[in-house]
Amino acid sequence: MVVPTQQEFDFIIVGGGTAGNVVAGRLAENPNVSVLVIEAGIEFPLEVEAISTPSQAFTLRGSKHDWAYKTTMISRPDYERVEKPNTRGKVLGGSSGLNYFTWVRGSAATFDDWEEYGGKDWTWETTKEYFDKCATYHDDEGLYDPKFLEQVGRGGPLHVSHAELVPELAPFRDALSKAWVSRGEKLTEDIHSGEMHGLVHCMDTIYKGVRSTSGCFIYGKPNVTILAETYSKKINFEGTTATSVTILVGGEQELTFKAKKEIIVAQGVYESPKILMLSGVGPEAELKAHGIEPVVISEHVGQNLLDHPIMPYVRRLKDGYGAENLLLRAGPGKDGSIAQYRKNKTGPASSGLLELVGFPRVDSHLAKNKQYTDYLKANGNVDPFGPGGQPHFEIDFVPMFSDAFQWHFPVPAQGDYLTIIVDLLRPLSQNGYVKLNSTNPLEQPFININFFSNDLDIVAMTAGCRMVDDILTNGEGMKDIIEEDYPWPMPRGSDEAMKRQILERSQTGFHPCGTLRLGKTIEQGVVDAELKVHGAKNLRVMDASVIPVIPDCRIQNAVYMIGEKGADIIKAAYPELYATAP
Ligand SMILES: Cc1cc2nc3c(=O)[nH]c(=O)nc-3n(C[C@H](O)[C@H](O)[C@H](O)COP(=O)(O)OP(=O)(O)OC[C@H]3O[C@@H](n4cnc5c(N)ncnc54)[C@H](O)[C@@H]3O)c2cc1C
Repeated sequence: MVVPTQQEFDFIIVGGGTAGNVVAGRLAENPNVSVLVIEAGIEFPLEVEAISTPSQAFTLRGSKHDWAYKTTMISRPDYERVEKPNTRGKVLGGSSGLNYFTWVRGSAATFDDWEEYGGKDWTWETTKEYFDKCATYHDDEGLYDPKFLEQVGRGGPLHVSHAELVPELAPFRDALSKAWVSRGEKLTEDIHSGEMHGLVHCMDTIYKGVRSTSGCFIYGKPNVTILAETYSKKINFEGTTATSVTILVGGEQELTFKAKKEIIVAQGVYESPKILMLSGVGPEAELKAHGIEPVVISEHVGQNLLDHPIMPYVRRLKDGYGAENLLLRAGPGKDGSIAQYRKNKTGPASSGLLELVGFPRVDSHLAKNKQYTDYLKANGNVDPFGPGGQPHFEIDFVPMFSDAFQWHFPVPAQGDYLTIIVDLLRPLSQNGYVKLNSTNPLEQPFININFFSNDLDIVAMTAGCRMVDDILTNGEGMKDIIEEDYPWPMPRGSDEAMKRQILERSQTGFHPCGTLRLGKTIEQGVVDAELKVHGAKNLRVMDASVIPVIPDCRIQNAVYMIGEKGADIIKAAYPELYATAP
């Protein structure tokens, strides 16, 4: 890291992650504007083979590029579980450098629910162009019907394409597609228009066999200064106006950089609330408990943490239907995959391994549960898990044992396996939070995701698992290749035993958001519709923290949208700088 001699920048972006780099790159489109990006991780993550090679993504958990948070996953009177590591990307590009690639935007109805917090500027209609502005979609082989895809990507720097269809996995894909349809569900390629229902070929932030990250927004821009491998310490204020950022270099040396215009916090859902609290913006009791001088009392800072709980489980496949021998176990298959990837970045190693993803509703399974039907009646027959007709679940089918989702179980020594991830998209447990453990900026915050604080989420998860099981066990094609559970039988028949399994096996879907949510007032949230921190000046937040209602799919496309829209909001505030900018 070379410390810049320049002490002042027009804009300082604190956190060079997914959204932060989008904002930095867009603001730097005026070559006369200077931008500083402060990032804790390394500057060139794509030089790390495990990061750039899609099939190795699952190995990054717990690596030195992972923030590896200690996290309370569940905290109920009858069950508690604390886990470590909970993964977030610590590289330039943030979690876009460690995630599992899928590129989905979500349902219009869910983004319309954002209006309650952000007003008219935060609805499907007023955000949808930004889901696409960041990306360019490629279908080099012409495999997909362009009519469903023409709205994906508008010449943005981020290259996305459909998942590599590994030829060796074609029998698995065929069996799953057949089974899905035979149980009354549909296949689709159209999940980009605001409605998502069916089993779809997944789109990924992968192109030509290499991961795409948000770093592409800023590399090579001379007016963006990147301070990698440096930690933010504090935002400094004059009154309630944010003026500068103090950073830590090498763990000890402090440097302060002044922002001539604004400071944009983009450290992600755990570190953004942390730096605000360390800087005096946060709940009164929390600031007082740590002896921090308040700048703005803002009770929602660190609150409203949302995430998707997932139930991962594994079933054995008939030999030859999984990717174990191509990617997991030493032998000629794996050697061949590695050689092919080294030669031209193709083959199994170029795959993110999520080729098929399902977005079902599970009404008929929910209807069998009295707790759910009582709730529905009391709720005026409005389904809480998909009130606008949204899918209840995202179901990921990975035809290989994947320990990234279930690290408590050993990798099986032989055989082929299917990892199933049942991801509850609109959980009713919405009371997670982030607090300070201390005032040391290098110490991780305290995180409680609080999954399953509402029992109905367990009912829904049970229904989701049963829906998937029905497809795998009874569906045409799959029923001939699906075998026993691993490592022990799932107690599918019993609600009580399923509850225990879900509490014990569930994990994060890696989609936390909401800890600095949008709000029309400081009583409702932390940032206003222009993503400005309520009560402060020259300070905005642009990352997953601002999301008020969790998207009904994986969330990176929504985070890129926030970066793009956020950048345009800033540009509009400085017409003297951006009136003629693209
Ligand atoms: C393992 C995993 C798998 C996922 N899979 C998918 C998927 O398949 N599809 C999908 O859509 N989404 C996926 N996601 C979610 C998605 O990637 C994230 O929601 C999104 O990238 C978050 O973006 P962000 O800008 O909010 O934060 P981040 O991208 O995490 O950026 C925050 C940045 O701030 C930096 N930072 C933090 N603290 C400091 C500090 N004190 N000083 C300096 N820098 C700091 C971090 O190093 C990081 O670069 C996944 C996430 C993970 C972790």
